[in-house]
Amino acid sequence: MARRDYYEVLGVQKNSPLENLKKAYRKLALECHPDRNPGNKEAEERFKEINEAYSVLSDPEKREQYDMYGHAAPSGQGFGGFGFGGVEDILNDFFGFGSVFGGFRDRSRRGGDLRYNLTVKFEEAVFGTEKEIVVPRTGSCRECEGTGAKKGTRPEKCAACNGRGQVTAQQGFFSLTRTCGRCRGTGEVIKEHCPVCAGSGTFQETRPLKIKVPPGVDNETRLKLRGEGEAGRGGAPAGDLYVVISVQDHPFFARNGADLFCEVPITFSQAALGSEIEVPTLTGRKKLSIPPGTTSAQEFVLRGEGVTVINSHRRGNLVVRVLIEVPKRLTKRQKELLAEFQKISEESPGSVSRTFFEKVKEIFG
Ligand SMILES: [Zn+2]
Ligand SMILES: [Zn+2]
Repeated sequence: MARRDYYEVLGVQKNSPLENLKKAYRKLALECHPDRNPGNKEAEERFKEINEAYSVLSDPEKREQYDMYGHAAPSGQGFGGFGFGGVEDILNDFFGFGSVFGGFRDRSRRGGDLRYNLTVKFEEAVFGTEKEIVVPRTGSCRECEGTGAKKGTRPEKCAACNGRGQVTAQQGFFSLTRTCGRCRGTGEVIKEHCPVCAGSGTFQETRPLKIKVPPGVDNETRLKLRGEGEAGRGGAPAGDLYVVISVQDHPFFARNGADLFCEVPITFSQAALGSEIEVPTLTGRKKLSIPPGTTSAQEFVLRGEGVTVINSHRRGNLVVRVLIEVPKRLTKRQKELLAEFQKISEESPGSVSRTFFEKVKEIFG
């Protein structure tokens, strides 16, 4: 089935503020909620679709990605698998009971996603690196393999709801479906709890993880580690871990995507006469020819001396901006020479400053 546009799913404009998204979402979620449409597969599908759309569009980061790439979000940032955690909270507000997703959500639940902020040095971002991080997370209990039942036993089908997780009661004309109180919607009951996790199937762990940071990462780059988030419940898959990069500044390189910028001071005579200067690059010093008559703030591009574009072999450029330094202290001899230079300059034709002052004279007299 082709995936519909998320904005279309919620019936809102592309630039709608969050408040409108929320309103549209609430209205639709109430209409299609499984508790209001027991056994209606179409409503259930629609409900899932609404939730997926809202979970993406209500998150500014995910929304921006979606606006840019649509369903074909860049690798490692797919939207399909995101949990409904945040969504559930708002629904709880107006359903007023614990498990709003009834039978189909509670039985097994995908683990939550985690975010880890990782700061790397400028060079590490440029050339890539390996890091070991320690992530506190909810893991799956090894003793019971996440079932919560004592080793050697298994959870049994809940007799109260016959494993459905929901019970339906007839009240006059109404048939009321609600979450089974005995198994709390899981459809299973544990006779003997696992002594290690006390039946939760999970335990808190701090896990060291080796992370490969590829060359070319930048501020806000998100690395996705599939299955390294919180453990899932009842054998459901674990969530994902997102490592979000921040890059420290460099003393003289500034970065814009794959391009690097650097300012290099040169003397007035180097600029006027032309010169060969040395400039810093990522791989050491390189020679750069400055042609005669170079002006201040003129830029020179060193092709391919920038940062590797992430997941490719292409490299950006290094842009060197030369700044002409005016000496603050001069020796007597330097002053003499410059004074003489100035005298000759006043007579030389075509000087920009001379033309400028002649124009000023013309206008103001
Ligand atoms: Zn256990
Ligand atoms: Zn039950």
